[in-house]
Amino acid sequence: MIAVAKRISRLIFQPILDFIYPPTCVSCGNLITDDVQHVCTNCWDSIIRVTRTHELYFETKGKLLRSGHVAELASAFVFEKEGAFQHIAHSMKYEGMPSLGVKLGKRVGEVMRQWNVSADCIIRI
Ligand SMILES: [Zn+2]
Repeated sequence: MIAVAKRISRLIFQPILDFIYPPTCVSCGNLITDDVQHVCTNCWDSIIRVTRTHELYFETKGKLLRSGHVAELASAFVFEKEGAFQHIAHSMKYEGMPSLGVKLGKRVGEVMRQWNVSADCIIRI
């Protein structure tokens, strides 16, 4: 019953809120049509994806394997200071947008599946 009330409330009030506070991308600030996504397509697409041939992947994997603490490394994104990924991560972390974490987590899961990597834990490096 509460879920139905929330949906009805959202259907009624969301257009008003969108008119007063138009939804914008958390990274570039451009207007977006889907407030749930929080990030425009251009910003998602601008995030550099890690491949197994990426220089940074080789460098990081080498360091971690030499440390003896990990057996394998899978990585999904390259962190760039002031890049879209940083803006998204900060919005997720400091502005209470957990839906962004779900989307990032799905991408990490895709990489692990594609690379046939299993993990006991996932950490950021
Ligand atoms: Zn954007």
